[in-house]
Amino acid sequence: MLGRDSALARALSKTRQVFSGRLRSLLSGGHVSSETWESLEELLIEADVGPAIAAELVEALRERVMRGELRGDSLQAALEESMVRVLRAEERRADEEPRLLTVVLVVGVNGSGKTTTVGKLARYYTLRGHKVLIAAADTFRAAAIDQLRIWADRAGVPVVAHQPGADPGAVVYDAIRACRARGHDLLLVDTAGRLHTRYNLMAELRKVAEVARRNVHRAPHEVFLVLDATTGQNGMAQARSFREAVGLTGVILAKLDGTAKGGVAFSIARELGVPVRFVGTGEGLEDLVEFDPAAYVAGLFERR
Ligand code: GDP
Repeated sequence: MLGRDSALARALSKTRQVFSGRLRSLLSGGHVSSETWESLEELLIEADVGPAIAAELVEALRERVMRGELRGDSLQAALEESMVRVLRAEERRADEEPRLLTVVLVVGVNGSGKTTTVGKLARYYTLRGHKVLIAAADTFRAAAIDQLRIWADRAGVPVVAHQPGADPGAVVYDAIRACRARGHDLLLVDTAGRLHTRYNLMAELRKVAEVARRNVHRAPHEVFLVLDATTGQNGMAQARSFREAVGLTGVILAKLDGTAKGGVAFSIARELGVPVRFVGTGEGLEDLVEFDPAAYVAGLFERR
């Protein structure tokens, strides 16, 4: 528990440095004025909390202070509470329904950290007692398949792959059969992520999902979007297209350790209505932590 929280706290250190120091000087002294509210809103927006949520958080605090319910020196605690509430609204527990085969689709644009994250997930589920297999359904580039194999080896799980250029649906079909034949209970499907104008990524992803649906009861059971946290609000438009095309059961926020804009988790929860499920905290196999709203918000604030 402690390990998990401190990995999250470390990943949030860049965001915290920007956010927390300024917050403290803003709230020190306990005196609040109209400038305090403006600066607080700006600070939240800079951390990439999203303008609408920032305005809403600040307005709620301001009203409580005006009504005499809240004193200047308890503002930070009140802000923390409301931030946790925004994230909790979309919190969903991991789906632990027992089944013979769980299919997890991993989607995201190239460069987001998708391959790395598939490796980390393979490790994560293996440690939790699953027998994992990976389907290399990004068949576009040979290099992508090779890279996936490297991560699968690190995680100690097998890969089902076809030749570059093969039909991704056929790879998924074979991988499902391999799971059944060899007794694997969790299939991680790595999908393509190229955004070319003359190529319909979303149509391909829908086909892949359809193959899973036709062959495994209620599959895909999870659809995780890997989002590069360093792209901040720009990732939101991307996330919407994936959500529309294949539906999403969760977002994995990769490279959180590389950004001062960790506030994007709030927009994902509120504007996308999809829970953040995991956070990438580094480049290693085990640098993946389950998302926890309270620990996340605590990581944004400096502890005194
Ligand atoms: P893909 O093209 O989406 O499959 O992306 P890759 O998995 O190849 O990752 C792209 C780059 O991001 C690589 O250099 C990874 O090491 C790096 N990366 C992925 N996840 C994380 C993370 O959580 N933290 C950091 N710092 N780097 C990451």
